[in-house]
Amino acid sequence: MSNIIKTNKRGNLIVISGPSGAGKDSIVERLLKINRDTCLSISATTRSPRGQEKDGVDYYFLSREEFEKRIKENEFLEYAEYNGNYYGTPKSGITDKLNSGKDVLLVIEIQGALKVKELIKEAIFIFILPPSMAELRRRLVDRKTEDKEKIINRFKTAYREINEVTKYNYVVINDDLEDAVAKTNSILLSEKCRVDRIEEVYLANEEEELHELLIDKEFDNSDLKI
Ligand code: 5GP
Repeated sequence: MSNIIKTNKRGNLIVISGPSGAGKDSIVERLLKINRDTCLSISATTRSPRGQEKDGVDYYFLSREEFEKRIKENEFLEYAEYNGNYYGTPKSGITDKLNSGKDVLLVIEIQGALKVKELIKEAIFIFILPPSMAELRRRLVDRKTEDKEKIINRFKTAYREINEVTKYNYVVINDDLEDAVAKTNSILLSEKCRVDRIEEVYLANEEEELHELLIDKEFDNSDLKI
């Protein structure tokens, strides 16, 4: 709160991308816990649930027919085909969340992120990188949730994706998870301090009067040594 300026209280749309295995989901999971002004947009996908994933929590798992029906009904802010499956961001709820002051996180791949960039100029784009390709390969293999062919596909896709990093506003290297979370959170906090969020400055013409009033309250003349 400030009685000097009025700032835009709307949340920011934050797009987070990076290759599979870079650690986007772990960063976002921690971020949601430490920054209560953030919330996650749950995507829809046609891929099958992996491991412990739950419908409506990790994704809305849809059939291809249902997904295509929703595309026709214009229900997605963006969608893309990625490694043979559809992924899309449902429009519903995003505007309300932003208006309530929450930053909305979209954890999406690059084709979708670039569509959001065309549609929403003020969105903020963060790219998460692994420290090295060898570390990325190790993380993909260690997940043990997919077969060899799928892992190789994800690894190939990662090479292509990393070349797109300069289309984003920020890059965070996920070497140490806590450090990467702190950096990502700092980006979110800094974006809230941008001067282009100022809507009004309240300082009026009574400046002189204000100066005297403020100083009279605090100033005790008795100790003054001239
Ligand atoms: P995964 O199958 O590993 O959960 O996700 C594969 C890729 O799809 C990841 O890069 C993930 O960020 C991305 N993704 C998840 N949801 C969406 C979405 O709604 N739209 C787009 N374009 N990509 C998404």
